[in-house]
Amino acid sequence: MIDLKDCGRFFENEELKKYTSFKIGGPAKYVLFPKNEESLIEAIKRARKDELEILILGNGSNVLCADEGYDGLVIILKSAFTKLDINDNKIIAGAGLSLRELANAALDKNLSGLEFAHGIPGSVGGGAIMNAGAYGSEMKNVVSSVKILDEDLNVKVLSNEEMDFSYRHSIAQDKNYIILEVEFSLNKDKSKEEIKNLMDDLWQRRLSKQPLEYPSAGSTFRRPEGHFVGQMVDEAGLRGLRHGGAMVSDKHSGFIINKDKATAKDVRELIEIVQKVIFDKFSVKLQREVKYIGGEYGNSCNNRDEWSR
Ligand SMILES: Cc1cc2nc3c(=O)[nH]c(=O)nc-3n(C[C@H](O)[C@H](O)[C@H](O)COP(=O)(O)OP(=O)(O)OC[C@H]3O[C@@H](n4cnc5c(N)ncnc54)[C@H](O)[C@@H]3O)c2cc1C
Repeated sequence: MIDLKDCGRFFENEELKKYTSFKIGGPAKYVLFPKNEESLIEAIKRARKDELEILILGNGSNVLCADEGYDGLVIILKSAFTKLDINDNKIIAGAGLSLRELANAALDKNLSGLEFAHGIPGSVGGGAIMNAGAYGSEMKNVVSSVKILDEDLNVKVLSNEEMDFSYRHSIAQDKNYIILEVEFSLNKDKSKEEIKNLMDDLWQRRLSKQPLEYPSAGSTFRRPEGHFVGQMVDEAGLRGLRHGGAMVSDKHSGFIINKDKATAKDVRELIEIVQKVIFDKFSVKLQREVKYIGGEYGNSCNNRDEWSR
């Protein structure tokens, strides 16, 4: 029994569905919203002493959390890690700030480059570790450095190159780094009106194409080289396919949605059905973009897709 009340807001036996955009996930043994960096480090030390596994969450918008929940400590960075320092064309943002707040802050100072991120429902930390991207840009293009906590609890600053960004990947996933802060280097090449118009335009595109009225974790699969997931799913007749409470969205067939009280098991099985049908029809192995956490998947940020298990 661990007590971390002095490290921030602390809950026992807390439903994780409250903290995921899929609105799915059983109870975590413990949930902590650390109040600052020192509390985060102290909490990790105490959890390690008690041999508790630790899982970091941002906005929970790219995860499918198991129905069994998580037998460890979930650390959520979104309430306290919200630093926002703007100096000329540089912004330093805390990992827990939302990408929307970050993009709006850039707009406020006439800084361009983050318009793509405005509609991504993640946090700065989650966006950086995932190299989140949309509409032709990605975090790699705007991040200048990242402050991380490594496994030995050393705070380090990594350059853009050291983050080794690639499609929905950064080195922080491989090394289990915790992202604390991100520095962005932005442009002064657009007027406020131009930045706002682009943000509004991209938002309208999302609204018209994505099933934002249902809980989901965004695109379920990574984009396979030379193919479009949505097109293959449509050609295979899977658009709108239901499995329990989960469904392949009939608005955007690259999304699996929580249509009606879906369990994590419903979603996982539907993902496997789609993967199998697409492989049988096109010989393409669809790989998950959404991370499985909790239950048998534990805390691995880098858990493998069905094809390599
Ligand atoms: C409707 C919808 C639309 C979306 N559109 C897009 C899109 O256009 N482009 C895109 O790239 N993604 C998109 N996503 C997916 C998701 O928003 C992004 O992947 C986002 O970057 C995840 O951030 P998060 O804070 O929610 O991360 P989480 O889901 O909380 O976590 C994702 C992974 O990162 C780890 N993690 C989170 N924060 C930290 C941290 N500070 N330090 C270390 N590890 C951390 C977690 O352990 C987990 O493994 C969409 C999702 C939804 C629901």
